[in-house]
Amino acid sequence: MTKGKKKKDKASRRGLRKTRKTADRGPAREKRWDRQYREGAGEEIHAPFERIVSRRDRRQREIELAREILHEKQFEAAGELPPEAVEGIIVEVLRGGCIVECGGQKRRCMLRGLLKSLETQEHNVIAVGDRVIFLPLDDGTGVIERILPRRTILSRKYMEREHVVATNVDQLVIVVSVDAPPLRIRLIDRYLVAAENGGLVPIILLNKMDLAADDSARRAMQVYPGLGYEVVFCSAKTGEGLDEVKGSLAGKNSILAGQSGVGKSSILNALQPGLHLQVAEVSKTTRKGAHTTTGVTLLSLDFGGYVVDTPGIREFALWDVAAADLPFLFPEFEEYIGKCRFRGCTHTHEPGCEVRQALQEGKINPDRYDSYCRLMESLK
Ligand code: GDP
Ligand code: ZN
Repeated sequence: MTKGKKKKDKASRRGLRKTRKTADRGPAREKRWDRQYREGAGEEIHAPFERIVSRRDRRQREIELAREILHEKQFEAAGELPPEAVEGIIVEVLRGGCIVECGGQKRRCMLRGLLKSLETQEHNVIAVGDRVIFLPLDDGTGVIERILPRRTILSRKYMEREHVVATNVDQLVIVVSVDAPPLRIRLIDRYLVAAENGGLVPIILLNKMDLAADDSARRAMQVYPGLGYEVVFCSAKTGEGLDEVKGSLAGKNSILAGQSGVGKSSILNALQPGLHLQVAEVSKTTRKGAHTTTGVTLLSLDFGGYVVDTPGIREFALWDVAAADLPFLFPEFEEYIGKCRFRGCTHTHEPGCEVRQALQEGKINPDRYDSYCRLMESLK
């Protein structure tokens, strides 16, 4: 039973990895949103969801199903879209509304009545990152008519309920620094696991290269490209590698993770000097009398793409990873899983373990294996 399930997990994981690498991101934007939703998007929603939810969490799956029904409902009940309706992206969620960005302009929007009634049942129907169809009004505000299907969901558990932090995020940008704070390889592995579990493509930025006294930091990164993880060496101070960082962020929705002080804000500021000013402006003009409900915002990048800006990013260190899933989140284990002597081998101490055999033969990096054991221990 366990074996069968595992095999399936592995197979689906493989399929999805492939999709992630080869498929272009999202279909070309069509004007006929309804048709796009009904005909094309079903497939698109399912696969990423499978990766996002912890595979064992049945309740989570139920929530996803409820949400799919919600999407059906909104299309059934809503009728024709007014011709003036346009597509935008939610960059901030407020009490009783949100800020939608469209063509570089931000606009305060309310949810239309039908969506509002769903909201009370569903808790948060909209989240930062949602693509929506809204009707612009003459007074500068707007009404949200539709919420388009979500590609990915980033959530955390809050008081036993799923709390959606952001949607449609493509990649997790893991920022670490050569020094101040010192480089912590174990933390990188933790974030990589979180990214794999959440269906996000991870990218590692090693910042503060100007502080590197020797090449030990560079050497510590050597293992990652071979595992399919992109590493960019940069310095927000000297500008080294920032063009490459820009290239990695352009056109994608990213979330930055990393200890405080590694230089996340400095990197963003160096890439787009006006970024923080822009954020300050938004709060002045649009937050009047309304409090943000999540504190999560989406920063729009001049060169294309968005960055999710959230306080308490470190809480995302491990998104609901089940111990049984952990081996599947280390890509280098993939070819050995299922070949061990014992079913349900945890690859930590069992005899006849193929993963440990591979470790002994030097096919698996010992530091990565050490990270795996520590993570496994913490999940018990
Ligand atoms: P955050 O907490 O991750 O957003 O980090 P900050 O962007 O606030 O940076 C923390 C400190 O590191 C600040 O004093 C920055 O000036 C400094 N810093 C950021 N990037 C670099 C870099 O590439 N080299 C050096 N030497 N210092 C940097
Ligand atoms: Zn094993």
